Amino acid sequence: MVTVEELFAIDSLLTDTERQIRDTVRLFGEQRLRPHVADWFEAGAFPARELAPELGKLGLLGMHLEGYGCAGVTATEYGLACLELEAVDSGVRSMVSVQGSLAMTAIHKYGSEEQKRRWLPEMAAGNLLGCFGLTEPDFGSNPGGMRTRARRDGSDWVLDGSKMWITNGSVADVAVVWARTEEGIRGFLVPTDTPGFGAREMHRKLSLRASITAELSLDGVRLPDDARLPEATGLAAPLGCLSEARFGIVFGALGAARDCLNATVEYARTREVFDKPLAAYQLTQAKLADMAVELGKGLLLALHLGRIKDAGGVRPEQVSAGKLNSTRAAIAIARECRTILGANGITLEYPVLRHANNLESVLTYEGTAEVHQLVLGEALTGSKAFR
Ligand code: FAD
Repeated sequence: MVTVEELFAIDSLLTDTERQIRDTVRLFGEQRLRPHVADWFEAGAFPARELAPELGKLGLLGMHLEGYGCAGVTATEYGLACLELEAVDSGVRSMVSVQGSLAMTAIHKYGSEEQKRRWLPEMAAGNLLGCFGLTEPDFGSNPGGMRTRARRDGSDWVLDGSKMWITNGSVADVAVVWARTEEGIRGFLVPTDTPGFGAREMHRKLSLRASITAELSLDGVRLPDDARLPEATGLAAPLGCLSEARFGIVFGALGAARDCLNATVEYARTREVFDKPLAAYQLTQAKLADMAVELGKGLLLALHLGRIKDAGGVRPEQVSAGKLNSTRAAIAIARECRTILGANGITLEYPVLRHANNLESVLTYEGTAEVHQLVLGEALTGSKAFR
């Protein structure tokens, strides 16, 4: 028997360091996270603050960033770490993505030297948590329409508005908040103990339950000018961070798919129906073969994009192609695996429906599948079709 990674000789494409990082994160995921993840999902609770220092010790927070206590690994190494985390649960990978690729990347890319020194080392260590507030109740796919405003008052800024669906929002120490100013969209670092800042955890989610999601409210939040990210001008700034986080999803979603497929092959080999194992039926094998091919193709594309990124830059539409492919393939695999598990597939005893439910969020955040189709459509035709 072979795994999908063996079938596609994935190891032969990886360096020693890449394999080492992958194995280290996989071991941490299996030993530290997997035994608890179904309970976290069921309870709709995630011990973000407790886990952050452990993730920090492994160098997983802001791991692709250079300096300020960050690990400075390659894009491909970062992708492989995301894949292993998401093989446990998309919620764990989301927490790491938001901390590293969104909040820390915003500070690293657009912050002043003083802001970087103040926040990044402690965030890399997992002692401080960040969140990234872009989406609003009425503006998700079209963040350029945001209503949150920052107005000048003497040398200060005063922020008013609200943000929704913000991962890590109610446990963060600092919120990166994007707001409209007279000069256009700007980013602000809001310490979450600032008067007027509020965060309320959102409940009753059926997806990403092992992840903290919050609504943020900004009611006359007064900040000095040095809380503004000096290099962030316009919508391109938050979009630049999103492209980093999306790249992690290109790999990450495939981790969830791999976990579904592995659990399903094991189940099909032992579950007997009509007097023989489910795995011995052609219909089951056809499903497994098709899923293996989709997963393998996704892994090859992810690695290819990683290599392009490491060689000097990947274009946003290339990341869109990867995100679209990985999330669509992963959710299709998770749903197909669920059919093979029958009724057992709907329980938390198996990871499959948990992954499938999580992948609904992964398909939606960091640009929905449709938005990535539009990005690719524009790249292919030269015509924008967003409006
Ligand atoms: P909408 O924009 O209302 O879209 C609804 C539907 O319309 C979708 O199918 C969409 O593809 C489609 N659509 C939109 N525009 C077009 C168009 N032009 N043409 C055709 N179809 C279109 N945001 C943050 O800022 N920070 C976070 O940390 C964060 N974490 C999240 C965590 C979770 C669990 C979830 C679910 C979301 C999170 N988000 C976060 C928000 C996420 O980025 C948005 O949900 C996403 O951008 C989509 O926005 P929306 O939900 O408002 O959907």
